[in-house]
Parts: sequence; C-alpha cells; structure tokens
Amino acid sequence: MNLKEKIRVIPDFPEPGIRFKDITTLLKDGEAFKYAIDRMANFANERNADLIAGPEARGFVLAAPLAYSMGLGFVPIRKSGKLPGETVSVSYELEYGKDKLEIHRDAIQPGQRVIIADDLLATGGTIASTIKLVEELGGVVAGLAFMIELTYLPGREKLKDYDVLSLVQY
Ligand code: AMP
Repeated sequence: MNLKEKIRVIPDFPEPGIRFKDITTLLKDGEAFKYAIDRMANFANERNADLIAGPEARGFVLAAPLAYSMGLGFVPIRKSGKLPGETVSVSYELEYGKDKLEIHRDAIQPGQRVIIADDLLATGGTIASTIKLVEELGGVVAGLAFMIELTYLPGREKLKDYDVLSLVQY
C-alpha cells in the first residue's frame, strides 16, 4: 500500500510558503485508512501500550480509531478552554503560530504506557508539549506514531529520546 500517493499536497496553505500535507484524501480511502491504523497498532502493540493519546484535531482522527482497534482507551489533548474538568496545560510554538494544550488531570494513571498519535511531525513542538503533559501526570511515553514526517525539519532530533514511527516521509 503506497500511502504517500493518497496524500494531497496543497501549496501556500494556510499561508504562503507552507506546503500543506492534506490527509483527507487518504482518510476517505477505507483501505488506506485501515492500513495506516493497522501499522500504528502493530507499533503500539510491540510497545505494550495501555492508552492512546492524541492532540486535536487531526490527532483525534488517528488516535481514536487506533485506541478502538486495540481495545484501549483514548485520551484527548485539547487547545485551551475546551476540556471541562480540572486540567494541566502547557504553551507551545507551531510551524505557523502559537498555542496552548491541555489534558485532564485524571486522564492518565502514573506508570501507564501511553502511545501518542498525530497526523504530522514538523518541528516536533506539538508533540514535545503533548509529551510534557503525559509525563507530568506520571505517564510513560511508550512511542510516538505519525502518519507523516517532514524530515527536513528537526522534529526527530527534538524527540530523539523517544521511539518514533512515521508512515510517510517528505
Ligand atoms: P509541529 O508542532 O511543528 O511538529 O507541527 C505539527 C502540527 O502542525 C501537526 O499536527 C500538523 O497538524 C500541523 N502541520 C505543521 N506543518 C504542516 C504541514 N506542512 N502540513 C500539514 N500540517 C502541518
């Protein structure tokens, strides 16, 4: 299965100079979507995952079916002000922009092995912040699973202490 040919690249979105990797063209292909989730599930299985976490919004699209397919729980990481319960939060920088991420304080029990899934690894800022939240709650980051990795950005270097899976590279 060639996942790369299912991904559409849109130049200058959301601003000039960004080559946006659009995974909606992959997601609408049932076979490709299942293949991608199954590969992430193998990775998560080998690392004895207890829980799957993902940052909104595109992280949800991968982390939730990954969790479901493994019979594991899913933990949402959200932009500030969206989670109703008591939260822990962290600020972070994006390839384009700045934001804040939150997790429910009771989302992870100390020692639980967490796989974090997201659509794309660029600078690694989003995932570094997600890792901080998981670790602050005592979770063990057992691996990071991405649909796409931009290898011309230093994301993997930033995450060098962690096990990284990416299904497609640019
Ligand atoms: P970063 O924190 O720099 O690793 O950026 C990761 C997040 O920004 C990903 O979860 C993507 O949703 C989004 N993103 C960054 N660059 C791109 C891109 N070129 N195409 C699509 N999404 C991107």
